[in-house]
Amino acid sequence: SDIYGLERRNSQGIDLTDLDALVPLKAEIESAAERNWKTAPIIGGHPTGGEGEALRNPADLRQTVGRVVNATAKDVDTAIARAVRAFPDWAATPAQERAACLERAADLLEAERGAVMALCIREAGKTLMDALAELREAVDFCRYYAARCREDFGKPMLMPGPTGERNQLALHGRGVFACISPWNFPLAIFMGQVTAALAAGNCVIAKPAEQTPLIAGLAVAILHRAGVPGDVLHLLPGDGAAVGAPLVADPRIAGVAFTGSTETARAINRVLAAKDGPIVPLIAETGGQNALIVDSSALPEQVVRDTVVSGFQSAGQRCSALRVLFVQQDIAPKLTEMLAGAMAELKVGDPALLSTDVGPVIDKDAKEMLERHAARMAREGQLIHETKLSADCQLGYFFAPRAYKIDSLARLEREVFGPILHVVAFAGDRLDEVIEAINKTGYGLTLGIHSRIDSKAEYIVNRLRVGNAYVNRNMIGAVVGVQPFGGEGLSGTGPKAGGPRYLHRFATERTLSVDT
Ligand code: GLU
Repeated sequence: SDIYGLERRNSQGIDLTDLDALVPLKAEIESAAERNWKTAPIIGGHPTGGEGEALRNPADLRQTVGRVVNATAKDVDTAIARAVRAFPDWAATPAQERAACLERAADLLEAERGAVMALCIREAGKTLMDALAELREAVDFCRYYAARCREDFGKPMLMPGPTGERNQLALHGRGVFACISPWNFPLAIFMGQVTAALAAGNCVIAKPAEQTPLIAGLAVAILHRAGVPGDVLHLLPGDGAAVGAPLVADPRIAGVAFTGSTETARAINRVLAAKDGPIVPLIAETGGQNALIVDSSALPEQVVRDTVVSGFQSAGQRCSALRVLFVQQDIAPKLTEMLAGAMAELKVGDPALLSTDVGPVIDKDAKEMLERHAARMAREGQLIHETKLSADCQLGYFFAPRAYKIDSLARLEREVFGPILHVVAFAGDRLDEVIEAINKTGYGLTLGIHSRIDSKAEYIVNRLRVGNAYVNRNMIGAVVGVQPFGGEGLSGTGPKAGGPRYLHRFATERTLSVDT
């Protein structure tokens, strides 16, 4: 058993600075991008018919990436009915077999890396680096949950008891799970939710974000080829009103996994609570108002590097992304100057190019929301830097990364999902007020600390209510099985994705006592 505690390794990845690795990868991506991509509801292993609507590349609206046929109310009903019938057999399938399906899916994802990455880039606007990270995380989720499935579901836990009595505790699937996933990790989070639910012995109805159904369609086809029976996993593309709402409201749904906004998680929770019948669990991973606290002992170069990565990588469209940088007053002028210099070096543009740091935002609504927020910050704060856009940014939904100095965190009512960073200077003797202000937001997802004083970092970590704290490093890109990921308060319900107890919430526990 290795450092992961199980016989398993995370994906090795690909060294993109090695031309011998990069050139064939790019060729695979380019040839896959030209395919006639289409996704439709996949029910019982078969896509339904229809012509569908065109999906545009957010980096270049002239390009059609593929077509999507959205699910109807009848599709929702049929898929749930078939999943309900398939459940007893799937739940009774040995954990080893369920795990083997996920492991084969991981191998297939790696074998089809060109298609996977092409869709991450063209449908979701991911940069080449982010697309690779997405592939790796999806593969890691498959193998990690497979390993956890073998370990925790493979055999019951024996409990103590008197001679002549055998007592055991076993985990069992709950029924039909609805998995509702976001566009910002269209493969990794989609696969993470679905494989966890499957590993735990549930049937799954997957509802991907309406912006990224093609990647979801590819992932479901891969899972079916890997051996997941057609009626155990169904895909229903469509928006929240047409598909998500009737799905969640259906009395046959035994659990919901959701990643997205706090508002939507609350709305789902209300629908679940209003239903008659059993209490249905909700596993929600929502937003954050993530802060990085920098004291005057920190190394400025390192702070700037980690700030830029945490705030602007993935165009700031991670729920873990840095939103508010708190800098101790004494070093604030120097640090903001260095930050402006680093932001000037960022390359915003075509996400398919290796040299690009920041790609487009996902759609028109996202871009308009960011523009509105930037207009307000221009009035209420002070612009530190706005990165220049290249000429080809006219073609898509690009938004220039920017940083504003503001006087207080209280100016931000909610999470702003994109490449806008806020900087607040604080006096060294006012650290407790900073901690209180961050806790007061009610969010609790990620936190960064840069300080060379260990006791100070410890003091902060012990007082802030957050799920993932990072000291003297960046605060994104949690690694499966290494940094289990998820927040508390307004940021989510737990348990942590990529953590040892994630599958448990998808399952129910059964005790068996036998007089022998
Ligand atoms: N797990 C991702 C990270 O650590 C963020 C997931 C999300 O944005 O939902 O960066």
